[in-house]
Amino acid sequence: MAGNSLNSVDPEIAGLIRAEERRQADTVKLIASENYVSKAVLEATGTVLTNKYSEGYAGKRYYEGQQVIDQIETVAVERAKSLFGVNHANVQPYSGSPANLAIYLAFLNPGDTVLGMGLPFGGHLTHGWSVSATGKWFNAVRYGVRKDTGRIDMDEVRSIALEHRPKLIFCGGTAIPRTIDFPAFAEIAREVGAVLAADIAHIAGLVAGGAHPSPVGHADVISTTTHKTLRGPRGAMLMATADEHATALNKAVFPGLQGGPHNHTTAAIAVALHEAAQPEFKAYAAQVVKNAKALAEELSSRGFDLVSGGTDNHLILMDLTPKGVGGKPAAQALDRAGLETNYNTVPFDPRKPFDPSGIRIGTPSVTSRGMGEAEMRQIGAWIDEVVTAVAKGDADDVIARVHKEVSDLTAQFPAPGLS
Ligand SMILES: *Cc1c(COP(=O)(O)O)cnc(C)c1O
Repeated sequence: MAGNSLNSVDPEIAGLIRAEERRQADTVKLIASENYVSKAVLEATGTVLTNKYSEGYAGKRYYEGQQVIDQIETVAVERAKSLFGVNHANVQPYSGSPANLAIYLAFLNPGDTVLGMGLPFGGHLTHGWSVSATGKWFNAVRYGVRKDTGRIDMDEVRSIALEHRPKLIFCGGTAIPRTIDFPAFAEIAREVGAVLAADIAHIAGLVAGGAHPSPVGHADVISTTTHKTLRGPRGAMLMATADEHATALNKAVFPGLQGGPHNHTTAAIAVALHEAAQPEFKAYAAQVVKNAKALAEELSSRGFDLVSGGTDNHLILMDLTPKGVGGKPAAQALDRAGLETNYNTVPFDPRKPFDPSGIRIGTPSVTSRGMGEAEMRQIGAWIDEVVTAVAKGDADDVIARVHKEVSDLTAQFPAPGLS
C-alpha cells in the first residue's frame, strides 16, 4: 500500500472526516451536551494505547505488559480525585449510560425500586425510563417539575420517596436549566435509606470550574460523562467518598459490566482533567453560564417561552408553541442556517416525543470558541429571525442570509481542535 496515512489507506473515510471537520468549523453549535475537545485531548485519543488490553485495575490486572497503562490510569484517577475532591474515582466506564448501569448493579437487585426524573421532564433514559433496561428491569418511579414554575418540587420528590421507598435515587438530567439542590436530595435519600446518585454528566465542567454547586459531601455516588461541559473524550467516570461505595462501583464496572478499559480514552480523560484544573477553565465555566444567561435574556425579550423562565447553568429549554411552530421544523430550519440545536420535549408537552414543542440550546461549545455575551445576543436574534420565518411558512431567504452571517461569525472564532 502506498503510504499508510488515513488519506492513502481509506480516502473515503478520510474525506468524510474532513467534511465533518468543515461542518463543525462552519456551524454555531448550540447542542447543550456537546463541546470541542482540545488538540491535546484529540491527540491522546488517537494513540497506540488503543492496542492494549488491561482488564482489572492498576496493580491488579489480568494481562501482562501494564507497566505504562497502570501509570496512565493512576494519573487519570488521581486527577479526578483532586479536581472533584473525592476519595475514589473510576475512569473506566465506556460512557455515561454504562456508568449509570454500573450504579444499579452495585446497589440494586432486579425489581428493586429506583426514583429518577422522568425523561419528558429532563431526566435521562438511564434514570429508570420505560424503554431503557433500567426501566424494564427495575421498578422505576418518577418525579418531574411543577407546571407553574418549571422547577423540581422537592416536597413532591420527598412524598414520592416516602411512598415508594426507593433503594436508589437519581438527581441530575439532560434538560434541567436550573441548579440541582444536592443537599435537599441528600436529606430525602437519608430519610428513606436510599443511595443517592448525582448524575452530573451535563454540568461536570461547571462543577469542576466552580460555576455549579458540587454534589460532593451530599451524594453517595457521582456519575458523569467526560465529553460534555468537562470537554474531554467520550467516556465516563464514577466517583465516591466512602470506601464501601467505591468497592461496589469498581466491582460493578469490572467484572460486572465491562471487559477491558479503553486506555486511549483514559489517557485523554487524564489530559482533559489536567486542562480542567487550570485557572482558565474556571473562567471558561463562568463564561458558559454568563453566555447562557445573555442568550436567555435575548430570547425572552423576543417572546420565547423559556422553561422555568431562564437558566442558572449552560442550558436553555424553550417551548415554541407561542411562536406557532413545532420544535422539529424549527430545529431543522435553524440547522440549515448553520445554527445547530436539537428538538426537545418540554414539561407537560402535548405533542409526541418525535415531534415535540421545544428546542434545547446550550452554550458550552460557543464558549469554547471564545464567544461572549455580544455574540449570544446576535445568536438570539438569528434564532428569532429563523423561527419567525418558519412560522410564516417562507423561510428560505432568511435562512440563506442568516447562514451567510453565521459563517462570517464562525470564521472569526475558530474552534479548538479543528484545523
Ligand atoms: C449524556 C448523559 C448520559 C449518558 O451518556 P452517554 O455517554 O450518551 O451514554 C447520562 N446521564 C445524563 C444526565 C446525561 O446527560
